[in-house]
Amino acid sequence: MSVLQTLQERSGNICELCTASNDLKQYTIPPSLNENVANDVLVCKTCLDQIEGDVDMDVNHWRCLNDSMWSEHVAVQIMAWRMLQRLRNEGWPKDLLDMMYLSDEALALARATGEHEDAANKIIHRDVNGVILSSGDSVVLVKDLKVKGSSMVAKQGTAVRNIRLDRENAEYIEGKVGAQQIVIITKYVKKL
Ligand SMILES: [Zn+2]
Repeated sequence: MSVLQTLQERSGNICELCTASNDLKQYTIPPSLNENVANDVLVCKTCLDQIEGDVDMDVNHWRCLNDSMWSEHVAVQIMAWRMLQRLRNEGWPKDLLDMMYLSDEALALARATGEHEDAANKIIHRDVNGVILSSGDSVVLVKDLKVKGSSMVAKQGTAVRNIRLDRENAEYIEGKVGAQQIVIITKYVKKL
């Protein structure tokens, strides 16, 4: 029996994370490269696209982990743990993680990619309304700002295009006003 067939039998032919029954695929949990039943899960396309980061995370979709985190299969436990880690800033995933039990060996595997650390340390820039800013966005100033080290004042309503995010600090972005590259505090901008 192939790994895929074993997974189909193990799961009853449903997504092992969310129980959907369509578009099922075998997923080998990184960093493992060899498919085998201990390292693979059967997941649906909705789960897989989010696991692989091809689409934004749909937080509510992952409420399914409430059940699947209790799977007897270690591979499923590891995927549940990783997805909860990615979402832990939402609150409820953190509560589930606190309840979850993984053996030491499973936990070591779950942590093997270091992905959970990236997610926790990720710096998110938000504008005055809490809208997430990305590099390349355009923003408008919501108040007059003195430009440090010059006599220039950047006027409220000035558009700043193609911003850059400060990788160390969620409160700062950079952008050009006139000919000058300036640092701007995120709470004084609105995304266009
Ligand atoms: Zn699924």
